[in-house]
Amino acid sequence: LLDRTEATVTVIDKLPTPGGLVRAGVAPDHPGTKGVLRGFDLLYRDPRVTMLTNVSVGDGPDEITPAELAEHFDAVFYAVGASESRRLGIPGEDLPGSTSATDLVAWYNGVPGVDEGPPLRRGTADDPATGRAVVVGTGNVALDVARILVSPPELLATTDIADRALEILREQNVHEVVLLGRRDQAAAAYTAAEYRALSEIPGVEVEVFDGADGQVPSLGEPADPSRRRIVFLFHSTPEEIVGNPQVQAVTVRTGEGRHHVAADLVVRSIGYRSTAIPGLAFDDERGIFRNADGRLVDESGEVVPGGYVLGWAKRGPSGGIGANKKCATETVEDFIADAASGRLQRTQRNKSEFTALVRKRVRTVIGYRGMRAIDRRERRRGVEQGRPRVKFTQVADMVGAAGWRKA
Ligand SMILES: Cc1cc2nc3c(=O)[nH]c(=O)nc-3n(C[C@H](O)[C@H](O)[C@H](O)COP(=O)(O)OP(=O)(O)OC[C@H]3O[C@@H](n4cnc5c(N)ncnc54)[C@H](O)[C@@H]3O)c2cc1C
Repeated sequence: LLDRTEATVTVIDKLPTPGGLVRAGVAPDHPGTKGVLRGFDLLYRDPRVTMLTNVSVGDGPDEITPAELAEHFDAVFYAVGASESRRLGIPGEDLPGSTSATDLVAWYNGVPGVDEGPPLRRGTADDPATGRAVVVGTGNVALDVARILVSPPELLATTDIADRALEILREQNVHEVVLLGRRDQAAAAYTAAEYRALSEIPGVEVEVFDGADGQVPSLGEPADPSRRRIVFLFHSTPEEIVGNPQVQAVTVRTGEGRHHVAADLVVRSIGYRSTAIPGLAFDDERGIFRNADGRLVDESGEVVPGGYVLGWAKRGPSGGIGANKKCATETVEDFIADAASGRLQRTQRNKSEFTALVRKRVRTVIGYRGMRAIDRRERRRGVEQGRPRVKFTQVADMVGAAGWRKA
C-alpha cells in the first residue's frame, strides 16, 4: 500500500508484538528467516503508518468489531493468519501428553498465553520414559517440531527459544522423534531444504522406512539413549493414542498391520485453520474467511466493499513468507482496481476518531515506540546470555516494558 498508493495505513495486532508467525511460528534455530522482521520494521516506522498493537478485532467488550473498522476506514485488509489446529479425530487424542503443533510451537516460541508446556511423561522405575516423541504429519511444521525436540539442548540454548521450553527440553532429553506420513515419501509435504536441514543437526541420524513395504523399525521399547534419531515412517496412520493417566503409546497402522509405538509425547501437525471473527463470513469446512479471490464476501456471497483477506486466512495454511508477499501484492492491485472503478465507500470519519475509539476500548494500546521498547528489552536480555533475544512470555510484562505502569 505504501509503495503503490498515497494511503495512510493503520496496523492492528492482538499481540503486543507484531510479526505474526515470523515471530511466533518460524523456528528459533532459523534466525536468518526472522531477518524479514527488520524489513517490516522499516514499514512500521513510515510516517504514513500508525501501529496499534495489543488491540484485538472481535466482538468482545475490549475488542474492535469488523463493523467499526469498516466505518472508520476506506478499506480493511484481514491478514489474521490461521492459528488453530485441525484434529485427528482418534481415541486418546485429548490425553495429557497429546498436543498440537500449534500449541507446541507457540510454547517454544514464547507466545503469551501458552504457558503450559507439553506434559512429557517422566516415567517411573517400573515403567521408564521412552525418550521418544511421535509427530503425526510430514509437512515443514512437523519437521520444525521434530528438529526442535531432538536437537541437543546446548544448541537450542544459543537461540531465542523460550526459556520455559529450554528448561523442559533439557530435563526430558527426547532423543528420538518418529514422524508418521500417510502416503509415500514422494507425497510428503515438506520442502527439500527443510528435509536436508534435518541431517545437518549435529549428532542426529535420519532414517526412512516405508510401512507399505513391510519396513517397520522396532519402536515398542524405550529409544536407544546413546543415539539421537529422526525416524520417518511412511504409509502409516495413527489409530489410537493410549496411556493412563497420560500418553504411553500410539497404535499405528501400516500396510503390514498394526504396531505399538511407545512414546512420551504425541504431536499432531496436520494443518492449521483460521479462528472465525464474528461479523465476517467464515467457511467452517476449509477454516478460512469466505472470499472471492481475496475480496471478502458475506453469507449470501455478495462482495463486501472495501473488505479484503490475504495470507493464510485467505488461502489456508500453505506457503511461506514469499507466498504471502505475492498474495499481498495481488490484494493491493485488487484494492487499487476497486478504488479506480468507484467500488469503495469513502469513510466519513477522520483518523483521530478511530484512535480515540481504540484508546477508549482497549486499556493498554501499544504504539510504535512501545513496540520498540519491548524489542530493545528482549535483545538486552539476550545479550546477557549470548542469545539474539530472550522473549517476554506474558502480556503484562510486555505492556510494562512498553512503558505502561501497573495501576
Ligand atoms: C511452525 C511454523 C514454522 C514456519 N516456518 C517458516 C519458515 O521457516 N519460512 C517461511 O517462509 N515460512 C514459515 N512459516 C510460514 C509463515 O510463518 C506463514 O506463511 C506466515 O506467517 C503467514 O502469514 P499471515 O500474515 O497469513 O499470518 P500470521 O503470520 O499468522 O499473522 C497473523 C497476525 O494476525 C494477528 N491476529 C490474528 N487474529 C487477530 C485478531 N482477531 N485481531 C487482531 N489481530 C489478530 C496475529 O496476532 C498475527 O500477528 C512457518 C509457519 C509455522 C506455523
